[in-house]
Amino acid sequence: MAYYVNRNIKLTWWERIYIPEILRGMYITSRHFFLNLFGFIPYFLGKAKNRTIFTVYYPEQIVEYPVAYRGRPVLAVNENDRLNCVACGLCEAACPAYCIEILPAENSGKQNEVERWPKEFTIDMAICIFCGFCEEACPEEAIFMSNECEFDMLDRKQMKYGIDKLSKTTEELKDRIEFTRQITGKWNY
Ligand code: SF4
Ligand code: SF4
Repeated sequence: MAYYVNRNIKLTWWERIYIPEILRGMYITSRHFFLNLFGFIPYFLGKAKNRTIFTVYYPEQIVEYPVAYRGRPVLAVNENDRLNCVACGLCEAACPAYCIEILPAENSGKQNEVERWPKEFTIDMAICIFCGFCEEACPEEAIFMSNECEFDMLDRKQMKYGIDKLSKTTEELKDRIEFTRQITGKWNY
């Protein structure tokens, strides 16, 4: 469901004097804090906790990200075990962080069924801002935002992901693929 922010909202006189709204914010925060704290009392009586605020004990607990979540970009590998990518370079051009590098290869005979493909495709995850522009720009359903956001390295050079690390099967990406089709289907191309 889309959520719209009204940026032209007019503040009331009460809101403009500021202090009452600060007190109101503190009241709401304190109410949540104490209600959650009291929710622990049943636990000490041998019953289940009765907390109303949802807290994730990360990293022991991991939340399931919604399909709209933009994690690191990945490349789709189709059922023929090939990348959908045709090395057109549109994602590279659309990327505001200049973190995509593509080295294209072209069919010069019959050695390959596809006309054009990426010989090398790297994304520098140390620079990527997970904006999703590459996914939007791609005409081939070849690059998608995944739900992966947890990766860390001691060496920045290892953050440059090549085809081997970027590849995901279309089966693994099917929810995201369906989601992007619904989104782009609403745009008036
Ligand atoms: S998500 Fe944004 S920054 Fe990252 S590779 Fe795609 S276009 Fe570039
Ligand atoms: S991922 Fe898509 S936009 Fe990027 S080069 Fe491949 S086909 Fe073109």
